[in-house]
Order: sequence, then structure tokens, then C-alpha cells
Amino acid sequence: MLGTFSYTNPTKLYFGEDALDSLPRELARYGDRVLLAYGGGSIKKTGLYDEVRGILEAAGKEVFEVPGVMPNPTVEKLYAGCTVARDNDVDLILAVGGGSVVDYAKAVSVSAWCDEDPWEKYYARLEEPDNRIIPVGSVLTMTGTGSEMNGGSVITNRATKQKIGHVFGEEVFPKFAILNPRLTFTVPRYQMVAGIFDVMSHILEQYFSGDDDNTSDYLAEGLMRSLVHSSRIAAVDPEDYEARSNIMWTSAWALNTLIAKGKSTDWMVHMIGQAIGAYTDTTHGMTLSAISPAYYRLVMPYGLPKFARFATAVWDVDASGKTDEETAAEGLEHMEDWMRELGLVMNISELGVTDDMIDGIADGSFVMDGGYHVLDRDEIVAVLEASK
Ligand code: NAP
Ligand code: FE
Repeated sequence: MLGTFSYTNPTKLYFGEDALDSLPRELARYGDRVLLAYGGGSIKKTGLYDEVRGILEAAGKEVFEVPGVMPNPTVEKLYAGCTVARDNDVDLILAVGGGSVVDYAKAVSVSAWCDEDPWEKYYARLEEPDNRIIPVGSVLTMTGTGSEMNGGSVITNRATKQKIGHVFGEEVFPKFAILNPRLTFTVPRYQMVAGIFDVMSHILEQYFSGDDDNTSDYLAEGLMRSLVHSSRIAAVDPEDYEARSNIMWTSAWALNTLIAKGKSTDWMVHMIGQAIGAYTDTTHGMTLSAISPAYYRLVMPYGLPKFARFATAVWDVDASGKTDEETAAEGLEHMEDWMRELGLVMNISELGVTDDMIDGIADGSFVMDGGYHVLDRDEIVAVLEASK
């Protein structure tokens, strides 16, 4: 029984090498005042900044800027963006960058007209917006988060050592997203493979949950097979357009709410990963890869049939003559081999986690109950210890 749900995704995607040509059509839907948000400078190096500014100016827009949105955007940066958005009464926020910039744009969109402290309201208390929301559009330059087609927005508070994601409703989803795989060619290899594992982790967190015979599981298996195949090609040749475009498309579908339908969803790897991020300010995907082997080894006995299915359906393990335990373990070994092949970070020490941080990270990990096993604090510590 799938249960009951509703499904819609309001984000309009423009995909392909000429996708940016559709930006004027979208800009025409909004008023003249545009807030352009971008990161630390990659778009200036690649020439995308000049191209987007040119399109905005040709469309007659008055442009205000928030440059320097950092990976793992901070609450101070959020406050600064709110001031620019509110003082200039902007009609649209255009995020040009990776998941951090898109997440940030959503945070500013709900916060600029919020009379309370937005960190407290949206991130500490996870309340829903009841004030004016500024529409967001994006030109994506790096894949992994799925932020281009979802309501997720992760903000870091370095003072309190908290990194919290709010999954907003469809009124906060980007109105449109421009997806040109070629724009991802310049992403450094470390970021590219981290993004690929972020996609894998999003799929796994939904796949390893629930107990139905669910169409979402078959979709998830197809997405994982495509991701593994394309990532192996991209790791050898990052400029293989077919592989990068498949990764971009898979990334959007991994976390645009579709494959969560009918599932309970886990998200424990993301919760521990975000706590690690709060302490180390390291690359999101690598915080996930560093703990995933230990996490899935711990959870596997509680969801054995699904882990055995994962082994055969995603990694082509031959189950004949084997117990479910043997098949499932072989599946995880294949996943770890693939992770090593990509060059992912496989331990938290490499991320700068030291023994004195373990307690704080364990306390900072929200405990989720949608997976096959609810971890207690000792088990979170055990995952961290096994990931050193
Ligand atoms: P990112 O933090 O947006 O970008 C990482 C780095 O890649 C930046 O240094 C950026 O440089 C560079 N970069 C991006 N595009 C580039 C390009 N085309 N060429 C060269 N360099 C490029 O990475 P991300 O993984 O997409 O986003 C991570 C954030 O998203 C984390 O805070 C994570 O927690 C969050 N997240 C959100 C969701 C969600 O559902 N919304 C899901 C998972 C994770 P510049 O700054 O110079 O551009
Ligand atoms: Fe993620």
C-alpha cells in the first residue's frame, strides 16, 4: 500500500547547451529589479557572469548584487542578503552557481520580508513562511544538491556550530532553472565527485526506507545505475558531454520529491554529515562519503532483503547460492570500490574531525526515524568512530 500523497513540481527546467537562451523569456515574467546572487568568483573566470549581466541588461533590468556566497552559506551572509533584497525591493532573485548559491537564494527569498530573526524562525524552529516570498530562479553551474528543483535550503551558523536544512514547500521552489551541462565542465574534480556522491546519497536515503513494493524503488535503481555508469565516464573525461548531462539530469530527479513518494525516507547520513560540516566547514558530499560505509554496514542487518536487492539491482551481484547476508555485503563492497575509484574522501579524519569533536558532532546530529533502524547516541558515536 503506497498510502496517500499529492505530487507536483512547480520548477520549470530548461536543459541543454542552449538553455541560457531561455533566460529572457523567464525574466519577462518578473518586475524590473533583480538581485543577482553568486559565489566566490568562478562565474567571473568562466565568462558566465558577463553573459548573464548582458542578458539582464538587455532585458532592461536594474541589477543589485550579492557576490561571495560561500560553500555552506552562513547566517551572517543571509542577513546581509536580506538587507540588499529588502532595501531595493527586488522582484526576483537570480542565483547563478551551485547548490550553496541556490539554497542561499531561497533563504533570502523567505527571510527578506520576515520581521523575526530568520535563523530562529526558519532554521532553529523550522517554521513555515507566512510573509512575502520573493521568487527565485537559477542558472546552475554545479550538480549534486538538487536544489534547482526542490525546496531545500541549508544554512550554517558557525557561532552555534549548527548546520540546518529547511525543506520548504513548493512556493519556495525555484520558479525556473537553467541547466546547461557544459557549464559544469569547469567544476574542480574534487567538487565534481563530491556532487556525484551527494546525488547517490540522496537516492540511498530514500531507497533504504519503507517496506512497500514501491515504484519509487525501481526509479531509484534506474537513477543509481545511470549515475554509476556516467560517473565512471566523467571521472576519466570530465568533458564528456553525455556523461555530464546524464549526471545533471539524475541529480535533479534524485531530490525533486518524486522518488520520496510512498517512502518514509531516512536522511540520517545527511544529518550526521551536516553536523560534521558545522564543525569542519568541509565539502558537503565528502561529509557524506566519509561516513556512509560505516553507516550502511550498521543499518544493513535491519533491512537485509532491501540491501540484497540493492546488490543485485544496482551492482549486478549474482545472488545464486548465496545468503541474503552474503549478497548484501557484496553490494556494499561494490559501492565502496566505486567510491574509492572516484577518489571520494572515505574517512572523517581527512576532513579535520578530531577526537574532541566527536561528542559535539553526535549531539548536533538530528535523529531521524524513517530508516530501517533508529540510531541511538552510542550508535552515532560508533559510526563516527568507525569512520575515523
Ligand atoms: P557549492 O558549495 O555550491 O560549490 C562548491 C564549489 O564549487 C564552490 O567553491 C564554487 O566556486 C565551485 N563551483 C561551482 N560551480 C563551478 C563551476 N562551474 N566552475 C568552477 N567552480 C565551480 O556546491 P554544492 O555541492 O552544489 O552545494 C553545497 C551546499 O548545498 C551545502 O551547503 C549543502 O549542505 C547544500 N545541500 C542542499 C541540498 C538541497 O536539497 N537544497 C541538498 C544537499 C546539499 P564559486 O563559489 O567560486 O562559484
Ligand atoms: Fe545533499
